[in-house]
Amino acid sequence: MLIGEIHAPECSKKKLPLGALIVHLNDAHHWTRERIAAWVADPDVPQDESHAHH
Ligand SMILES: [Zn+2]
Repeated sequence: MLIGEIHAPECSKKKLPLGALIVHLNDAHHWTRERIAAWVADPDVPQDESHAHH
């Protein structure tokens, strides 16, 4: 689980608390809730457009 301020994966200069970051990703980057949930669960996984996650 992510704690504290977190770098948004698509805006390297932005740091927000998790709740605000989720809103930001959804609102500004149009991430789906699924994608946000997957990223929150495993933030070290590179986020790209492929679905090669096994
Ligand atoms: Zn952003």
